[in-house]
Amino acid sequence: MKKKIAIAGAGFAGAVLARELAESGQYDLHVFDERKHVAGNCHTKRDEETGVMVHEYGPHIFHTSREDVWEYINRFGKFGQYVNRVKAVTARGVFSLPINLLTINQFYGKKLTPPQARDFVGSLGDRQITEPKSFEDQALKFLGREFYENFFYGYTKKQWGVEPTELPASILQRLPVRFNYDDNYYASKYQGIPLDGYTAIVEKILDHPAIHVSVGTRFSPSMRGDYDHVFYSGPMDGFFDFKLGRLQYRSLVFEKFTETGDYQGNPVINYCEESVPYTRISEHKHFTPWETHEQTVCFKEYSKLAEPGDTPYYPLRLSDDKALLQKYMDLAENEDGLTFIGRLGTYRYLDMHMVIGESLDLAKTCLQTSPSEWPTFSQKPM
Ligand SMILES: Cc1cc2nc3c(=O)[nH]c(=O)nc-3n(C[C@H](O)[C@H](O)[C@H](O)COP(=O)(O)OP(=O)(O)OC[C@H]3O[C@@H](n4cnc5c(N)ncnc54)[C@H](O)[C@@H]3O)c2cc1C
Repeated sequence: MKKKIAIAGAGFAGAVLARELAESGQYDLHVFDERKHVAGNCHTKRDEETGVMVHEYGPHIFHTSREDVWEYINRFGKFGQYVNRVKAVTARGVFSLPINLLTINQFYGKKLTPPQARDFVGSLGDRQITEPKSFEDQALKFLGREFYENFFYGYTKKQWGVEPTELPASILQRLPVRFNYDDNYYASKYQGIPLDGYTAIVEKILDHPAIHVSVGTRFSPSMRGDYDHVFYSGPMDGFFDFKLGRLQYRSLVFEKFTETGDYQGNPVINYCEESVPYTRISEHKHFTPWETHEQTVCFKEYSKLAEPGDTPYYPLRLSDDKALLQKYMDLAENEDGLTFIGRLGTYRYLDMHMVIGESLDLAKTCLQTSPSEWPTFSQKPM
């Protein structure tokens, strides 16, 4: 008799785990998603008006340095070559991100070489800050006031909804500057965008005789009795009906508009000034440079605190959240037959390749042990 497993959430976390367990031949998988489609926040769909492949929940660029993850995703779809290059509109003009040698030279009207630029940026930092306590301290220590105020202050405040003095220094752990002309946003070995979109990939991952998918169906904890084990990729606090309080998330509002031709000449442009209410504009036809479209579709992205009913996007993880998270983790550890997985289940910001990697790793662990030994979390949330 095959064991019956339920998976709440048909994003990458749930889909990859379902596939790996299904291929072992030992389990029947029932994957639920409360949305009407699979692929979670990576869902893509052709826009009816323009024909452009749209990333419905915000722009998604696939990148990874993990060989097994790159091989895995390529089994289920072809990727087009794509390198993410982001621009920043600041009060002093438009610059290249992440801050690199071109940004430094153009922002300061200089012609510095890499070693000169390293010394120059080093001289801008605030030396009086020895132990940075906040994001602001950290940025001032590394980059000085002009870079901080033009590139980071307004954007960070809009993105997180709090003063950067209230955010932990750890958000800006490393020096966010390159001393060469490399403007590739990611430092990963592989990068690309799927030719047929992410949803087609997730549909193929889930296409296995041992996997049954129910979209438009919420998995509720009361359904647990029907299954030998449950993997849950929804919000951890939601699973417990928020009984200890709500973990804070940032949510996003997308304002769609269409134009003819090329609206902004780049897939993603960040708006760093506090006076501009949105954080960025993405123009989705530029994610598929191998396609031709006369019209174009763009999204202005606004950030807000997630309220009940809003889609939770980015975990805030401020100190109060971490204290509450610990309490939910204690509750979770006391449950049998339940594993929290993915971005919402473990209340961490994770890129797609990280979620896929964690589900591949978790599946390996599960296939080497019996369900009674399966862990409570794909990865410990803290
Ligand atoms: C704006 C934005 C941009 C991003 N850009 C990138 C990028 O460029 N590159 C990158 O690698 N990553 C990016 N990411 C991260 C990427 O979205 C995540 O890594 C990925 O979605 C995580 O997959 P997941 O399966 O954990 O969660 P999700 O994709 O959120 O899937 C979880 C699913 O579970 C469902 N669900 C929840 N509770 C229940 C329930 N009780 N019953 C049934 N279904 C339920 C939800 O409806 C959802 O579909 C971005 C994220 C955001 C928010």
